[in-house]
Amino acid sequence: KMRTLPVTLSNTQYNVLIGPNLLQQAGTLLTPLLSQKKVFIVVDENVASFHLQTLTNSLTLSQIEYETILIPPGENTKSFKYYEQVVNTLLEKNVERQTPVIALGGGVTGDLSGFAAATVLRGLPFIQIPTTLLSQVDSSVGGKTGINTPTGKNLLGAFYQPQIVIADTHTLNTLPQRELLAGYAEIVKAGLIDDIELFEWCENNGEKILSKESHYLDEAVERACAFKARIIKNDEFEQHSKGRNLLNLGHSLGHTLEAELGYDGRILHGEAVALGCCLIFKLCTSMGICPQEDTDRVLHHFKSVGLPTSIRDLSFPLQASSLLRHLQHDKKVKNTKVLFILVNGIGKTFTSQDVREEDLLKLLMN
Ligand code: NAD
Ligand code: ZN
Repeated sequence: KMRTLPVTLSNTQYNVLIGPNLLQQAGTLLTPLLSQKKVFIVVDENVASFHLQTLTNSLTLSQIEYETILIPPGENTKSFKYYEQVVNTLLEKNVERQTPVIALGGGVTGDLSGFAAATVLRGLPFIQIPTTLLSQVDSSVGGKTGINTPTGKNLLGAFYQPQIVIADTHTLNTLPQRELLAGYAEIVKAGLIDDIELFEWCENNGEKILSKESHYLDEAVERACAFKARIIKNDEFEQHSKGRNLLNLGHSLGHTLEAELGYDGRILHGEAVALGCCLIFKLCTSMGICPQEDTDRVLHHFKSVGLPTSIRDLSFPLQASSLLRHLQHDKKVKNTKVLFILVNGIGKTFTSQDVREEDLLKLLMN
């Protein structure tokens, strides 16, 4: 029942293991990778209450010692404060160069502990055990780790690949449905970028994925990871305009919505991405470069599963002018033009820095 997806990069290779109840087998799965029988587990309080015991039981059965580092849940944990706390704990507990750090949790835990692993003693082995759909299909694969700073999101970090990713789809049973849906948005996004077959598969099977039918859920995670592995293989360090950048479809506008609303849970990242993708399709249709029927199809699918497709779908007021100001502010801070990912249709993306302000304003007002 376990699916194995190899991720091949220039100087490393690792497997993404996908399937139900893999957490129970973690000890056995990890043993061949360990040079000593000791690990550190970083986990947030929510995930610890549901899944930590399963992992530690399995480690104990394989005679692997562990220490647990507990962090609070939420985006605010991806900060200097908790980075310092995790790093200090590792050092105070005499972590050694070969001792792996296991991230058990969502993207917040993975990004924070991956950055700690990348930097403590210039690099500890790192193991991802993602427990949200978003982290299973997106953040645990690809090697981006980091924290937020007062200036903005994800501004401090490192490319640091894990030794293995263990995506136990059974852990998603405890995940709130809204979080599941937000992760699903990133799967659809992958299809929209350059895999129309994946998008069609989502149109046909979205309901089954979202009702957690095991076979479909596993296949969705596998397809999304295969997509991401293909993209990062050709652009491990985000150096080409046709590489990792494309993963940001819907994200410039999405991040603006998130930032404007303040990361307090009113909008989840995946919800913002779904809406951001819809806005990009509408924009490109209005620019005359994307067929209306493709845009209708994208909106229809997001709407049918319950994701937002227009700013009006959000239950709180947002001003087009302040969104635009936010977008321009980010651009000034980074001293660049906003790089938009535009579309010629489903599965046909390209990058562009030439989106006219008046087109954006019109889009945001509708
Ligand atoms: P998250 O880690 O905050 O998890 C969401 C919530 O679900 C948290 O409250 C968490 O405690 C809870 N949770 C996690 N697993 C659970 C489970 N199995 N059962 C019940 N509750 C559970 O958020 P996320 O959506 O996983 O990740 C978002 C983060 O990922 C953002 O910080 C984003 O920047 C980052 N990200 C990184 C990359 C990358 O390439 N590194 C890519 C995309 C997103
Ligand atoms: Zn995203």
